[in-house]
Amino acid sequence: MSKNEAATVTNFIHQIVEKDLEQGTHAGQVMTRFPPEPNGFLHIGHAKSICLNFGTAEKYQGVCNLRFDDTNPEKESQEYIDAIVRDVEWLGFKWAGDIRYTSDYFQQLFDWAVYLIKEGKAFVCELSPEEMRAYRGNLTEPGKNSPFRDRSVDENLAAFEKMRAGGYEEGTAALRVKIDMASPNMNMRDPVIYRVRKAHHHQTGDQWCIYPSYDYAHGQSDAIEGITHSICTLEFEDHRPLYDWFIENLPVPAKPRQYEFARLNLNYTITSKRKLKQLVDEAHVSGWDDPRMPTVSGLRRRGYTPQSIRNFCDMIGVTRSNSTVDMSMLEAAIRDDLDSASPRAMCVIDPIKLTISNFDESAEEWFEVPMHPKDESMGTRRIPFTKNLLIEREDFAMEAPKKWKRLAPNQAVRLRGAYCVTCQEVITDANGEVVELICTYDPATKGENPTDYKPNGVVHWVSADNSVPCEVRLYDRLFTEANPEADKEREFLDFINPESLTLMPNARIEVGMAQAAVESRYQFERQGYFCVDSDSNADRLVFNRTVGLRDSWAKIANN
Ligand code: ATP
Ligand code: MG
Repeated sequence: MSKNEAATVTNFIHQIVEKDLEQGTHAGQVMTRFPPEPNGFLHIGHAKSICLNFGTAEKYQGVCNLRFDDTNPEKESQEYIDAIVRDVEWLGFKWAGDIRYTSDYFQQLFDWAVYLIKEGKAFVCELSPEEMRAYRGNLTEPGKNSPFRDRSVDENLAAFEKMRAGGYEEGTAALRVKIDMASPNMNMRDPVIYRVRKAHHHQTGDQWCIYPSYDYAHGQSDAIEGITHSICTLEFEDHRPLYDWFIENLPVPAKPRQYEFARLNLNYTITSKRKLKQLVDEAHVSGWDDPRMPTVSGLRRRGYTPQSIRNFCDMIGVTRSNSTVDMSMLEAAIRDDLDSASPRAMCVIDPIKLTISNFDESAEEWFEVPMHPKDESMGTRRIPFTKNLLIEREDFAMEAPKKWKRLAPNQAVRLRGAYCVTCQEVITDANGEVVELICTYDPATKGENPTDYKPNGVVHWVSADNSVPCEVRLYDRLFTEANPEADKEREFLDFINPESLTLMPNARIEVGMAQAAVESRYQFERQGYFCVDSDSNADRLVFNRTVGLRDSWAKIANN
């Protein structure tokens, strides 16, 4: 999808916004927010939410806030805040004004809780968590009122002040709103809005020992910021009546509305921060930015571009029905973006020696080849042809199958951009492994094939004498099952693909790539798209394969 097509992409959220604009709801303003909890890195599902929130604001000349939903201090950290900020910026979005934090509003949220107490709509409940659960009932049985529900306003004010002052231990008191213990919606059964947590907070330090619940904090933070359309995922649909209850029962400065959309699920991976954290904590991957991770940082390190992720989010659309998107769609999006933008290079990933018997040992012939086959503006590069060359092990077959397009004994193949060579002799080691191919080159085949000349095909190569050693990391799906979370008997960890990473330590790349910068992206001819990994340094060049040239999985499925 091109940039222009993307601009015309529409969805049901846009239709709601357009109707609101037409009717003058929210005074003709559009203000959205992206509200991550800083308890992990962002993943591809968050990218969908980011594109929707920032994209909607952009489309209707509105603004989008970045707000950290930081009401669970024990699980949150500055490291995660920094990573999230970096990822949103990298995706190319700009939030309005300063970064915001729900914790900026702790005092206001506290004051509104006092307001609810004074209105007779909130009470301090001293049931234990177990008792509270028992009183809550279940989906088939109504709950029972807490014995603390009818405390006087004064008693509640004093008890809430005591909560704030640290006078209650964790789990011994909570502030709850009085709604309806018989409501068929469990979220409306006198929900807890403040609990005691004697925890240090990354933003507010030790200022607070009570923290607001997500349901209480979220809508009011939206109202404080003047958010018009509070967009969240479908699991919050049942929370919407509570969201609206707070907005109706508090003197908030604005009336935001909540709308839900289906979260992104992607096959062969997971999009749960808790489980991604487990992969990191238990060292199943090298970190949050491991190139196999579906995190924005992981995709970035793998070689994905911000535009490809945004195009992917446009491609999958925004609806209200849950579904699972095929990983091949994400891969198609990155191929699309990289094909036209990536300079070409030749890299032999699993080398085998190819010696040109009729080429002078000391000679070095330089060939000028295009950086991109279809884009002359990218210019050319120079590659040296020498007596000792390397080709890909898989490009040689002792016994050529039918229609073999590569090299075999007594057969000829073109070395891309250079000469045709014919394999005259195969040298094997004691185990019968091929170690060297002795070939002759035909000087008449420089540039183009003479008319009567029929090489099998074209293969990539590098000079063994003048090329750069590098490490290539090949990736496969992180899980062997399309849905690693589906099995109720087994853990998702049981389905980690043991072959998700293959290290190729003996690769060699054309000499001009010696200075390739971290994060720069290339197409290695015939091999796929690659990007320079951050593990690279002056002595060692490391490449990640972003994606193959074709969808190899679809090929397998069709065979
Ligand atoms: P997780 O369940 O993985 O911890 P979360 O929903 O708790 O994710 P938040 O940090 O609260 O993570 O998410 C920020 C925003 O991103 C929320 O509005 C949330 O709805 C949205 N979001 C999270 N996961 C997805 C997903 N898979 N697809 C689309 N949006 C998502
Ligand atoms: Mg959440």
